[in-house]
Amino acid sequence: MEKYLSQLNEAQLAPTLQKDGPMIVIAGAGSGKTRVLTYRIAYLMSQGVDAFNILSLTFTNKAAREMKARIATIVGESEAKNLWMGTFHSVFAKILRFEADKLGYPSNFTIYDTQDSDRLIAAIIKEMNLDKEIYKTKQIRSRISSYKNSLITVKAYFRNPELMEADKMARRPRLGDIYKNYVDRCFKAGVMDFDDLLLKTNELLTRFPEVLAKYQDKFRYILVDEYQDTNHSQYLIVRALSDRFQNICVVGDDAQSIYAFRGANINNILNFQKDYDDVKLFRLEQNYRSTKNIVNAANSIIDKNQTKLDKIVWTANDEGAKIKVNRSLTDGDEGRFVASSIFENKMQNQLPNSDFAVLYRTNAQSRSIEDALRKRDIPYRIYGGLSFYQRKEIKDVLSYLRLIINPADEEALKRVINYPARGIGQTTMDRLVVAANSYGKTIFEVLQNIDQVEINVNSGARNKLRDFTTLIESFQVMNQTANAFELADHVVKASGVIRELNKDSTPEGVARMENIEELLNGIKDFVEGQKEIVDATASLAEFLEDVALATDLDADKGDADHVALMTIHLAKGLEFPYVYIVGLEEDLFPSAMSMGTRSELEEERRLFYVALTRAEKQAYLTYALSRYRWGKLIDSEPSRFIEEIDEEYLDIITPIEERRFNPMLDADIFGDPEPNKVRFKKPVQPTFKKKGAPVSKVEKKVLPASKNLKPVSQTKGNTNLFDSNLVVGNMVEHLRFGKGEVLKIEGAGADTKAEIKFNNGGVKKLLLRFAKLEVI
Ligand code: ATP
Ligand code: MG
Repeated sequence: MEKYLSQLNEAQLAPTLQKDGPMIVIAGAGSGKTRVLTYRIAYLMSQGVDAFNILSLTFTNKAAREMKARIATIVGESEAKNLWMGTFHSVFAKILRFEADKLGYPSNFTIYDTQDSDRLIAAIIKEMNLDKEIYKTKQIRSRISSYKNSLITVKAYFRNPELMEADKMARRPRLGDIYKNYVDRCFKAGVMDFDDLLLKTNELLTRFPEVLAKYQDKFRYILVDEYQDTNHSQYLIVRALSDRFQNICVVGDDAQSIYAFRGANINNILNFQKDYDDVKLFRLEQNYRSTKNIVNAANSIIDKNQTKLDKIVWTANDEGAKIKVNRSLTDGDEGRFVASSIFENKMQNQLPNSDFAVLYRTNAQSRSIEDALRKRDIPYRIYGGLSFYQRKEIKDVLSYLRLIINPADEEALKRVINYPARGIGQTTMDRLVVAANSYGKTIFEVLQNIDQVEINVNSGARNKLRDFTTLIESFQVMNQTANAFELADHVVKASGVIRELNKDSTPEGVARMENIEELLNGIKDFVEGQKEIVDATASLAEFLEDVALATDLDADKGDADHVALMTIHLAKGLEFPYVYIVGLEEDLFPSAMSMGTRSELEEERRLFYVALTRAEKQAYLTYALSRYRWGKLIDSEPSRFIEEIDEEYLDIITPIEERRFNPMLDADIFGDPEPNKVRFKKPVQPTFKKKGAPVSKVEKKVLPASKNLKPVSQTKGNTNLFDSNLVVGNMVEHLRFGKGEVLKIEGAGADTKAEIKFNNGGVKKLLLRFAKLEVI
């Protein structure tokens, strides 16, 4: 441990060695906050704190995995495996699954992603005969989401005249009814949406003191990274869990709070010292990530914000190159500039692609960058777009699997009941929904009793419904014995999905088939890691949960060498030697939607600060004079953020191509002494700018992290394989489930199974051939 502690500076050591009590580390970007959390966990373990008693909450599951890997090198892999680490959503989904019955949910509840939520909300709006131009699905979803994250349940909503009045004023008087309908339907379907995972955790901890006590006792040490971006719901969970031992360590940077639009509350970090007694406050000031130029430029930007905590950030790193600012004529040119610059940097310095990141404000901007990178044969990967698991063909197959696990899952059923086409039309579907609602049953229950319920479908349709029900039931039977891979493999064939996709020999069709294969491979990987668990349902359910909750970054195994393309929101906490921040134009960044108030503009500025501070060696800022947006070519002006940076840190360049394209912009015309450079503040040529060109105000806010995960094998490791002289009553330890007692042994030889009650409360039946158990 000593050896590792020497890798921290003194300011970092202080919070690392502060073992007990509430503490907060507030510090600027790149100063080692995440590093402190990592080493602190290792230190706690070296001081005898059991890994099972440590809970660490991170912004992505990838961050958690990296932290765990680092800790493993210090304390050893088998110990590090026992740590509870992950995003709020993934950690609390596990706990909820365990405690589901208390809240009236089945433990095999499935999870709706935003696409599923949208579909259900749209269906409800239609069923209620509301005007979908006024009741816009995504707006309604975001409203419901913000209610949930503020812990405003349906009941609370209808008790609050102000909220109802506000929705009435917004011409949406039925919002409460939609909310109620949505919540009821999710509950009946045995599903939770993302916000439920936090809301229901709060409900669990509030309504059941004994459950709260159990987890308080379990999580004696709690650590939270990126605390500035927690929402109210997350805040309350952390408060409740840390209330007993008060060993709570949060780290964050108010200057990097960028999720207010999703309900993040910067006051959580500002008020931390009021929430606990005797809070120790630590500050870190030395940045290890970036050059002096980048650190100073970033400081000069964030200085423009009025609402901020005073912080010092300095670095002992090299001066480094100035930040390069590039102007292009169009977004296409911008893409070509980025691609050729990456190409040149790579060639000149012999760098891997993974040293480069292109960051943008909105996902739509990736297209022109992609085109240019493709032309240059530079491999890239887009993070946070439509993720693998949201592609239609993948969601269709996953919906079959979800339906097997949880036949009440309404959205899953709707997706597959007539895919591949079975002649079950929309009218029949609508009637099923009506019948289900009037009987208070799930749609699948109606299907199973199709001959008993009153429903207006003819005998032909009835037969088709019966066939579908039988098909799903046969999958359920198979699920009793087969593993997730065998089942999925069978489902894609028996359901007709493969046959359907095979009909399409276009490149897109072939790609869809390949995606299905990739999905099956993913499930196989997962099963390999799960082999020891006898109960295959659990493993399929777990797989589906991982899929639903993984963020797009999680899919990155770090093996392929590619340029990373992502929104700035998603880049939080990451670092790259070369960073290109593109689309620095007024109305794009800062976004047109975020210039109404000072606080909105300040959030955009913090976003810019986050973007710039991702760069280690070199940052590029680029903008175009015109850009295709919403199908139209729109003139644009450079972002105010460029001008806000002290000019001494900037190097204004304009590529030769642009001068060739447009001699009017050639430096010579302006009498510039350096022909290769065009000064940034020079007036833009009027021919390229229509005065007051209208800019549409309909920019969508981008949700950063979407889901896409290749499941990770969970049980690799250097553990002892058990030779089967295990007896009832033995105490054993399992890598993932912890310590437990053997309740029962059954079977013989290669089929010997043990039923074990683990101290975390779960009972699992394990196949000893695979189980990684040690007798203790
Ligand atoms: P952000 O605010 O962006 O999340 P952070 O404060 O979490 O940043 P880290 O990511 O922990 O900062 O650290 C930034 C970089 O500096 C990392 O590459 C880290 O390994 C390195 N670093 C941090 N502290 C030290 C140190 N004492 N010696 C050497 N390198 C360090
Ligand atoms: Mg960090």
